[in-house]
Amino acid sequence: MSKKIWIVLQQREGKLHRMSREAIAAGQQLASALGGTASAVLLSSDGAVAGDVLAYQLDEVLTASDAALADYTPGGYVGALGPAIGAEAPDYVLFPHTYQSVDYVPRLAQETGAALVPEAVSFEVSGEEVIWKRPVLTGKLQARVRVKGGGTVLATIQSGAFPADSAAAGSTQARSLTVGELVVDREILGVEQAGEDEVDLTKADIIVGVGRGVGGPEKLGPVEELARLIGGDIGASRPVIDNGWLPRDRQIGSSGQTVAPKLYLAVGISGAIQHQVGMKGSSCVVAINKDKTAPIFNIAKYGVIGDLHEIVPAINEVLAESQD
Ligand SMILES: Cc1cc2nc3c(=O)[nH]c(=O)nc-3n(C[C@H](O)[C@H](O)[C@H](O)COP(=O)(O)OP(=O)(O)OC[C@H]3O[C@@H](n4cnc5c(N)ncnc54)[C@H](O)[C@@H]3O)c2cc1C
Repeated sequence: MSKKIWIVLQQREGKLHRMSREAIAAGQQLASALGGTASAVLLSSDGAVAGDVLAYQLDEVLTASDAALADYTPGGYVGALGPAIGAEAPDYVLFPHTYQSVDYVPRLAQETGAALVPEAVSFEVSGEEVIWKRPVLTGKLQARVRVKGGGTVLATIQSGAFPADSAAAGSTQARSLTVGELVVDREILGVEQAGEDEVDLTKADIIVGVGRGVGGPEKLGPVEELARLIGGDIGASRPVIDNGWLPRDRQIGSSGQTVAPKLYLAVGISGAIQHQVGMKGSSCVVAINKDKTAPIFNIAKYGVIGDLHEIVPAINEVLAESQD
């Protein structure tokens, strides 16, 4: 029987989260490998379809709407999705692996009795069987996971695992999902930026990652200049944050943000596994490091071996000249 795949998209104020598009790509690929259908699911207060979702190659876009879904709450989302999954029995329900899905998807799994595969980075399909790959032990190992028994499987899709631009375009139609009475267990009193310097690196196309090799906060100037010249944001490894050289919202890695820019320029970063976990979904990694055995070179497309304090100013000079 044809497999039914749902992709629950994350959106806020009508804008799709970047990782929603990556989840669409994953859902389309799973549907194609299983010979099934992929449909998007959107939760909102008014049933409006966020962004350009109707312009993807999807079987349909299912909209669950209720005033109680105006803001995200785990009770509202589980209350809307649980009965819909029970009634329509999708085989797989995919979610972008975000702070939001980490908050409510385990509860949804418990509510529906579905199996849960968190943080999937890839899958293989053999016949009707799906084997998922997911990192364990802060990315030191990759586990291959097969779900036993039948029923719906929920899976969250790790950032960068399925590039958003691989999602196929098409055209589709919206259909309303029936939503019963929702019990909202949290009242959102308001949303505030966490700080003036708050940066969402998950949306950045270009990131210049700074490591301990830079040597201290007083030496950050040329690297910041490089980021400015190439239109990038500054990210950092954990020691840079722990030493107080940059604010915590810049940290990339297993205990920081997971990013997937088009270009990741690693400057003075060794490439420890806990850092790689957060940036290996980047389309192109360029590394500058004086140690040619640094692990970052294993995942870098281009590498420069040498002293960053000489190389970065030299690059800046060429870039500045080309922009004159
Ligand atoms: C539970 C746990 C969670 C963690 N979470 C994270 C995380 O989220 N993010 C993270 O990044 N780390 C994390 N870590 C830490 C991680 O293990 C590494 O210690 C850290 O990533 C190393 O940071 P680094 O590459 O900047 O520093 P180092 O490993 O010290 O590397 C510095 C690099 O700079 C190079 N260098 C030095 N001077 C120069 C120069 N003048 N020119 C060019 N190159 C130079 C050196 O050759 C070296 O490769 C975690 C660790 C644990 C145990």
